Amino acid sequence: MRVPSHLLNDPASDPTSDLANHLLGTALTGLVPTGEPEASAAMAAFPPTLSAAEQRLADFRLSGYARTRNHLEGNVSRLSPYVTWGVFTPRELLGDVTARHGRRDNDLSKFTAEVGWKAYFREVFRALGARVYTSLEPYKYPRGPEQEGWPGGIEDGKTGVACIDTLTNTLLDTGYLHNHGRMWLAAWWTHYARHSWQEGERFLYRHLLDGEPGPNAVSWQWVASTFAHKPYAFNVDNMRRFGLEGCDGSPFDVSYETLDTHFFGGYREGGYAPRPDTQPRTVAGPPFPQLLRPSNSAPMIVLHAERLSTRAATLAAFPSAPVAVYLDARRLMHEQPSRKRLAFALHLAQDLVRNLEESGRQAALFLLEDEQELVQQAHAWQRDGAVVPDSWHPGTWRTLQRLDEHLPVSVQPDTPLAEVNASLRSFSAYWRKAEPQVLSRFAL
Ligand SMILES: Cc1cc2nc3c(=O)[nH]c(=O)nc-3n(C[C@H](O)[C@H](O)[C@H](O)COP(=O)(O)OP(=O)(O)OC[C@H]3O[C@@H](n4cnc5c(N)ncnc54)[C@H](O)[C@@H]3O)c2cc1C
Repeated sequence: MRVPSHLLNDPASDPTSDLANHLLGTALTGLVPTGEPEASAAMAAFPPTLSAAEQRLADFRLSGYARTRNHLEGNVSRLSPYVTWGVFTPRELLGDVTARHGRRDNDLSKFTAEVGWKAYFREVFRALGARVYTSLEPYKYPRGPEQEGWPGGIEDGKTGVACIDTLTNTLLDTGYLHNHGRMWLAAWWTHYARHSWQEGERFLYRHLLDGEPGPNAVSWQWVASTFAHKPYAFNVDNMRRFGLEGCDGSPFDVSYETLDTHFFGGYREGGYAPRPDTQPRTVAGPPFPQLLRPSNSAPMIVLHAERLSTRAATLAAFPSAPVAVYLDARRLMHEQPSRKRLAFALHLAQDLVRNLEESGRQAALFLLEDEQELVQQAHAWQRDGAVVPDSWHPGTWRTLQRLDEHLPVSVQPDTPLAEVNASLRSFSAYWRKAEPQVLSRFAL
C-alpha cells in the first residue's frame, strides 16, 4: 500500500489514529494497536526526522562517557533509535564521533566497544536467525515453574513494584530505556517475578523505538543465563548507586548472598551449571550472494527499514534514480509494534521521502504487503531493475530474493564495522578479533 503523505505531514504529532482509519477494511486493519496512549511524548523525546538525528549526533560529546554511562543520568548518546532504522550505520556513528573526539582515551575505547556490541548482536542474528527467540542453552540455575504471560499491571506501569514502574513508565512514554534500566527490568522479570524471558523480549521490543531482534533477544538471553555462564542479578543497592530509587524493602533489597539463596537456589557458591560447548560463528557473505550483481542500466532505488537515510551510498551512486522507500507491512503485522514505534518508523521514512523530493527526486513510501507493489512502481517509473543498500536483516534479503523473480535486484554491499571469522559464543570472543580491525580502520 502506498502511504498518503498527508497522514505524515507533521513529525511532531502522532499519525496513528488517522492511519488506523485509513487502514480500516484493508488487510492491514489492526496494525495500529488500540487502547494505547498517544505517541507524542516519544516523538518529542526522539524527533523522527533525519535532521534531528544529525543534530543529536553533532551535539554528542564523549567526555565522561566511560565513567558515567552506567548511571541513568550518565552521558549516553540516546542515538540508538536512529541507528536501528539505519539513519547511521554503526560504522558511520563511530566514524563521526571518533573524528570529533580526536584522541584515543577511555571514553573512546568504551564507546567503540558499545558500538561493537551492536555489531556483535547483528552478527548473532545473521548467524542464528529466528533461533534467537528460543533458549540457546539451558538456564544455569534450577528454575522451577514459571508464571504465565506478562507480570500483572506491566502494560500500564502499575505492577506495584515502584522502581520497576518508574522504568516501565519511562519506556511506555518515550520508547527508550537506559541500558542499565533494561538490564534491571529484564532481570526482575526473569528471575524475581519468574516470567519467561521470551515474553519479556516481546513486551520490550514492541515499545522500544530501537527494538532490534539481535540486540533485544540475545540481551534477554544473556540476562536469563540461556546465552551466558551465569544469570545477571542486581539488588537495590546497585539500583541506588546508579540512580534509581523506590524499591527499599522489596525482596531484592538484600545482599547478593541472600538473593542467591532466595532466587537462584544457592548456586553462586557451588558454581552454576557449565555452558555447553556450542560455538555459533560469524557467517561469511550474504544470504543470497547472487543479488550482489551489477545493476541494470535504468534502475530505481529501494530503501528498506534498515537504511532510512540520505547517507546511503546507493543514492550517490545513482543520483537521478527515483526511490521507493518501504516498511514491510507483513513484518509489522507480525511484530505488533506500539503506536510510538510505528509512528517513529513511519515518520522517519516519510521524512526521508520528503528530503529526496526536495533534492529533486521522485520518491514514494510503501507499507509493503507484496513485492508486486515495487514491480508496478518500477514499471510506472519506466525502470528496469532495483538497486538496494545492504541489510543486516535476513527477512529483507528474502523479500529482495522474491522481488528479483520479477525485477532484477542488485544489492550494494556495505562495509561493516568489522569483517571477521570469529566465535560468537561471547562478545569478548568476537571483540578479540573485531577490535583490532576497527581500531585500524579508524586509525586509532
Ligand atoms: C534487555 C536488553 C534489551 C536490549 N534491547 C536492545 C534493542 O532492541 N536494540 C538495541 O539497539 N539495543 C538494545 N539493548 C542494548 C542497549 O541497551 C541499547 O543499545 C542502548 O541503551 C542504547 O542507548 P544509547 O544510544 O544511549 O547508547 P550509547 O551508550 O550512547 O551507545 C552508542 C551506541 O552503541 C550501541 N550500543 C550501546 N550499548 C549497546 C549494547 N549493550 N548492546 C548493543 N548495542 C549497544 C547502540 O547502537 C548505541 O546507540 C538492550 C539491552 C538490554 C539489557
